[in-house]
Amino acid sequence: MRENDIRPAALLDAFFERLQRDAARLAVQRPHFVECPCPFCAETPQRSAFEKEGFRYVECDACGSLYASPRPTPIQLRAYLETSEAAEFWSTHFYRETADARREQMFRPRAARIAALADQYGLGPDAVCADIGAGYGLFLIELIACNRFGRVVAVEPDARLADVCRGHGFEVVEKWVEDVRDTDVAADLAVAFEVLEHVFEPLTFLRACAQTVRPGGLLFFSTLASTGFDIQVLWEHSRSVSPPQHLNFPSIAGVTRLMERAGLVTVEVTTPGQLDVDIVRNRLAAHPELPVPRFARVIAGADEATREAVQAVFRAHGLSSHVQCVARRPA
Ligand SMILES: [Zn+2]
Repeated sequence: MRENDIRPAALLDAFFERLQRDAARLAVQRPHFVECPCPFCAETPQRSAFEKEGFRYVECDACGSLYASPRPTPIQLRAYLETSEAAEFWSTHFYRETADARREQMFRPRAARIAALADQYGLGPDAVCADIGAGYGLFLIELIACNRFGRVVAVEPDARLADVCRGHGFEVVEKWVEDVRDTDVAADLAVAFEVLEHVFEPLTFLRACAQTVRPGGLLFFSTLASTGFDIQVLWEHSRSVSPPQHLNFPSIAGVTRLMERAGLVTVEVTTPGQLDVDIVRNRLAAHPELPVPRFARVIAGADEATREAVQAVFRAHGLSSHVQCVARRPA
């Protein structure tokens, strides 16, 4: 997988132009933003990391996570989503123009990963899988093609996207996960791909996700780790650190602590990311002047076999910014 296949540079530039305007509009409301302790370990000692587009990001002294504080309130965040130019561009351009590549390179492997997880943890053929933040339903389409689950449920709060999911024939719970009740869905496995980085309060979000699975059931989620190569190297120049859409970047220690605080049993934490080196390479190609450490430049400029080998080390040792977690809701 290459970054340019799933996020073509020209489309990405156009997306970020709009996102920056979104950020500027929301940053005007900063006097009403709220300061927060570390969203992962709950400790308060923090140091300023950087300011970006009117948002302040800090590093937790206790667990090393990176997060926005102060941050927009949940009401401000939902209002932003409804008027976001970037979100509009995503649905009208980005999504359409990259759907085939993303289906092939992202959603199909995700479905295979989740089907393998069901095998690994002994879920039966009638098992129920809930997709939290189902969006356009691309993941569920691929999951159904795997024919591994007896029933799949989309949890999607956006009315328009919920309609798209219904159009694919999916059962839809049209709610924010924080509002989902036990009676709405009791999945054997719930999945939330790349949602955590967006939410106001990761702990509340994770507890709510856990409520969608039956006692003893599994929760899978993926997010962006602050300790990954591309985020560490690019830091405030990382496009993953993109206010107002991404507010939370746990370290590996932080994400583990978060699962404990949510009352979940950590089953596995891995960083199977494939793109860290490619992201740094692309960023430097577009902006050679960025203040990137010399050795990171050497890695980004190395031949393909070397880059692959380095990325494999990041994958194997918790050093990629793409982190996947599996947790169990206590029985
Ligand atoms: Zn922390």
